[in-house]
Amino acid sequence: SAKVGVLALQGDVREHAALLVRLGADVVLVRRPEELAAVDGLVIPGGESSVIDKLSRIFGMQEPIRAAIADGMPVFGTCAGLIMLADTVTDAIDGQESFGGLDVVVRRNAFGRQAESFEAELDVPELGGAPVKAAFIRGPVVESVGPAASVLAALPDGRVVAVEQENLLGLSFHPEITGETRFHQRFLDRLAPR
Ligand code: GLN
Repeated sequence: SAKVGVLALQGDVREHAALLVRLGADVVLVRRPEELAAVDGLVIPGGESSVIDKLSRIFGMQEPIRAAIADGMPVFGTCAGLIMLADTVTDAIDGQESFGGLDVVVRRNAFGRQAESFEAELDVPELGGAPVKAAFIRGPVVESVGPAASVLAALPDGRVVAVEQENLLGLSFHPEITGETRFHQRFLDRLAPR
């Protein structure tokens, strides 16, 4: 079966890995280029994007991940992971870089502080079925969506919180902590079987 990597530099790696295992995936924690080379898709967890960025450069992972994205590897980012996938990040920490790939502008910490975390129900027509229970924890908002990307979900006030573009999927929120499995399944469905 396909091998799924979870980028394990910082963030809620275990929550993603546990959910993927529940869905029957063959999960590998990825910290080094050799580990990335052995997987068919990659999840970038929530956490702190500036730290993930820094560690990815220290571990020599920035260029390999950019190359994998350009090469069409399916990559799924939640929260900090969405920030890492965005072509443009506003309110970034000085010198912070993303991997890029998603034709969007995201604003970090757009929903305020940790204490202002909230849950919302989102209609996601592409997933069908019941609304998504979404947990927002200092998440980013997608401020603009370029022509290459498309919107999967928005809050009732119109703020975009889920986007997709070919091999890439990015969410402002954390399905891995509310038991929502459909986005992970959608990502897994994109991995080429071995
Ligand atoms: N605020 C974090 C960042 O800028 C994202 C928060 C999260 O992933 N829960 O990376």
